[in-house]
Amino acid sequence: MKLALITPAAKRQERRERLRNSRATALALREVFPAVQYLRLDLMFRSPGPSTPAMQSHTLHAAARAFFEFPCPYADCDGQFDLSAAVKAAIAGPTHQTTGELECSGRRAVGVGESDLCKLHLSYTVAATFKDAAVALSVKHAT
Ligand SMILES: [Zn+2]
Repeated sequence: MKLALITPAAKRQERRERLRNSRATALALREVFPAVQYLRLDLMFRSPGPSTPAMQSHTLHAAARAFFEFPCPYADCDGQFDLSAAVKAAIAGPTHQTTGELECSGRRAVGVGESDLCKLHLSYTVAATFKDAAVALSVKHAT
């Protein structure tokens, strides 16, 4: 049977593949949040172990996919960070910015057939920049 051949590495690969597919089929940012010009996501990691992944900055413009799940930066981890709620909070909030913390709930391969909870800590900042109201108005008048 083919299923018996699925290794933990293959499973992780499959999850990443699924994330990629979800991203590919997500609506564009401008369709979901038409008023938003771009989003900036800053991800800072704090590891319980010896190696801490580099920080990441993502700037998502109007044409980008409105998909806010990011795979855990550890290649041997099957976890992901879901910033969908944070993005919504930033867009809805009065300052258009939100910060928060998440912990990876994925598992990392630590040996053959063994895995351990990842618990990689993420501090994030999500900032939404809205289209200029004056520009939006002049566009409206021009049409
Ligand atoms: Zn992880």
